[in-house]
Amino acid sequence: MSRSVLVTGASRGIGLAIAQAYHAAGDRVAITYRSTPAPDGFLSVPCDITQPDHIETAFAAVEEQHGPVEVLVSNAGITRDKLLLTMSEDDFTSVLDTNLTGAYRVAKLAARRMIRRREGRILFISSASALYGQAGQSNYTASKAGLIGFARSLARELAPRGITVNTLSPGLTDTAMLNTLGAEKVEGLAAQVPLGRLARPEEIARAALFLTSPDAGYITGQVLAVDGGVSMGH
Ligand code: NDP
Repeated sequence: MSRSVLVTGASRGIGLAIAQAYHAAGDRVAITYRSTPAPDGFLSVPCDITQPDHIETAFAAVEEQHGPVEVLVSNAGITRDKLLLTMSEDDFTSVLDTNLTGAYRVAKLAARRMIRRREGRILFISSASALYGQAGQSNYTASKAGLIGFARSLARELAPRGITVNTLSPGLTDTAMLNTLGAEKVEGLAAQVPLGRLARPEEIARAALFLTSPDAGYITGQVLAVDGGVSMGH
């Protein structure tokens, strides 16, 4: 079964691994990118998710070529780590605007079409740190915890229309996002993971594929942690 899948922020990292997993499963995959062009093989649409008009244009382009989006993976995200007293208003609001409001923007457009079709899958990429907190990431964890509440409310709203809404919560994953932390800090954080290592993007992708598959048709409003055991009990 080939579905029309849209993954935001998927020209690299976790998003790219997710897009590749759907592609390998035979789906028609569109990805949005902001600055980094996407690799060949995908319908690649420029889109900054902080800009509502970009999102409208991106959805129109995807629908024209692949049909209405049946699976949305809202993955695009940023960090701007600072301790509270040095965190500017812009550091806080820009992270919220991208990670949380950006997800609202894309989910709204996707849901509008899914409601008409009375089926669909929406998946948000949150973070393990949303569940247990992280010093220096109050903006990021607020946005990622916000996604969980947002997804649960949407799950209730959209369940009568046959649409499932879930959240995936990756632990520390080996992507460019970790570059700002420095090797020593990453090594220290990895040592605290019960499984003792970072996640590989493909491991996150496999969970995304499952949560949006027909096999997961009775799963909605859930948070699936793929984090090597970091958040267990939270
Ligand atoms: P990367 O930094 O490698 O990729 C982030 C992606 O988001 C890029 O493609 C980037 O596009 C895109 N993006 C950022 N801002 C915008 C925007 N305004 N509009 C459109 N696209 C945007 O990070 P990861 O792959 O690691 O992260 C993917 C998701 O997983 C994020 O939501 C992140 O918070 C989450 N996550 C990551 C973890 C990790 O340890 N890596 C752990 C837990 C969650 P561009 O190339 O143009 O900048």
